[in-house]
Amino acid sequence: MNINILTIFPEIFEILKFGVLSRSISNKTLLISLFDIRANSVNRHKHIDAKPYGGGEGMVMMAEPIIKTLKKIHKKKRGHVIYLSPQGKKLNQKKIISMSKLKNITLICGRYEGIDQRIIDKYVDEEVSIGDFVLSGGEYAAICLIDAISRHIPGTLGNKESYLKDTFSNGLLKGDVYTKPEVFESMKVPDVLMSGDHKKIEAWRSEKALIKTFLKRPDLLQDIKLTKKQKKLLEEWSSNAIL
Ligand code: SAM
Repeated sequence: MNINILTIFPEIFEILKFGVLSRSISNKTLLISLFDIRANSVNRHKHIDAKPYGGGEGMVMMAEPIIKTLKKIHKKKRGHVIYLSPQGKKLNQKKIISMSKLKNITLICGRYEGIDQRIIDKYVDEEVSIGDFVLSGGEYAAICLIDAISRHIPGTLGNKESYLKDTFSNGLLKGDVYTKPEVFESMKVPDVLMSGDHKKIEAWRSEKALIKTFLKRPDLLQDIKLTKKQKKLLEEWSSNAIL
């Protein structure tokens, strides 16, 4: 997969060198190409922003430097053009999985008060938000998006099973996890996990995932079809539990 990034701060993406994500970059299953918008400024002071027409606060990123940068990427290599924006469609795991299947993506990172609307109208295929809050730059959103996508690219995760068992992958949150030591500050790891009985462990994990989702994110249960067994379990659990 090839991801092009348009930014005025290419250095921020140094962070992609760390963690599991770096694996897909070094084995070239993920190719990141950075394009510095400021290098394509059409102004001798290298400005890429200007005051908004009609007045108002802050500065707006001008269309010319961004489009000049975009046109440096061959149209075929641009693929799906995304503007990271708090006004975009909110990202979720389903969207990440569908994006991970694309061959080329181009991400435009905004700054200041955002980018000139004409860029969005003519060149952007989709506006994507990482949540209902405002960041100071699209770079942070781009990093979240790239990291989440990379988990679905073969060769990124050591254990390819792990993204299949991630929270959201089957519509539920992942159940509780524990590691050494067996007892920590008088809290003991649940006995079933020490039993060595894989069938029982799997059943316990599924149950935990369901109950955890019910308690923490009941909204997620609206989007999945529960099995008879799961429905029964939730009914039993809610009638016994003091909520
Ligand atoms: N003034 C703009 C508004 O109210 O919609 C916000 C601009 S924000 C300070 C600067 C840039 O950060 C945006 O152009 C966008 O690229 C990025 N950004 C901010 N919040 C974001 C979010 N939730 N998701 C994705 N990108 C975001």
